[in-house]
Amino acid sequence: MTARIIDGKAVARKLREEYASRVQTLKGEHGIDPGIAVILVGDNAASQVYVRNKIRACQETGIRSELFHMPADTPESQLLARIDALNADPHVHGILVQLPLPQHIDVSQVLERIAVDKDVDGFHLYNVGGLVTGNTVFPPCTPYGVQKLLEHENVKIEGQNVVVVGASNIVGKPMALMLMQQDATVCICHKKTRDLGQFTLLADILVVAAGVPGLIVPQMVKTGAVVIDVGINRLPDGRLVGDVDFEGVRKKASLISPVPGGVGPMTITMLLHNTLISAERIAGIIGD
Ligand code: NAP
Repeated sequence: MTARIIDGKAVARKLREEYASRVQTLKGEHGIDPGIAVILVGDNAASQVYVRNKIRACQETGIRSELFHMPADTPESQLLARIDALNADPHVHGILVQLPLPQHIDVSQVLERIAVDKDVDGFHLYNVGGLVTGNTVFPPCTPYGVQKLLEHENVKIEGQNVVVVGASNIVGKPMALMLMQQDATVCICHKKTRDLGQFTLLADILVVAAGVPGLIVPQMVKTGAVVIDVGINRLPDGRLVGDVDFEGVRKKASLISPVPGGVGPMTITMLLHNTLISAERIAGIIGD
């Protein structure tokens, strides 16, 4: 068996075109100009790249973005005051604080200060908790992107054995809860899991988000499984790879997402989606 390869770039492009047209409808028919505020504290090089990519994607979709770049020694109180002002600003539909934050700032204080109905990253405790009951205001972008990819590929979730490798708060755990909400039987594995392969072999759908290149090899994958690789790892030779031995596993899986070009393009797309939905709610439109 050779797996079909999911073209995350193409799915993301198609969705972004749809969102761009919905943005125009909001502007033209409702007088609402969807906007996101992005807060970057400090000069972390990777964060600067991520923020630049997010802002570019907003521009391409017609979503207004405003960057608040604050110095690394910004007191926490000043950052919280900035969030309060953005919470109160009716022209701002989404607020994103780029992580990580400098060490002197308490991340949970910051994330919980963001108004739940503007928390387009889905990291506020209310949104995190809402995953348990299926009532988030905004789902977190990366697992939501995986869900959209699976939907796009018509992968049946109900009743399937899903194994999620990685249990972080931003990818693994929310992913597991979202798939459980869709009636999958879900198992979460992490660093302390003994004999990882014993679990991954049971997976009809295997989602890997560990940040360990080559972690999943063909012997750990059930024939015909759907394999979603969330990992992004830069090898010493400069190559970007996921957590899955792509060439080996694609000979065993039925469907597989590559790195790059799989889940990656979907994450920012879901940020656009959440910002758009936030603005559509103001217009009284209840979208997807
Ligand atoms: P993280 O916070 O470092 O969490 C990694 C998780 O994987 C932890 O739960 C860890 O277990 C588990 N893990 C580590 N080594 C393992 C092993 N050998 N076997 C089993 N589990 C193992 O990372 P993250 O933020 O969730 O990100 C995970 C990967 O996804 C990274 O490569 C990251 O770059 C990528 N990512 C991609 C996107 C995207 O847009 N495509 C977005 C976010 C993240 P413990 O809990 O026991 O430590």
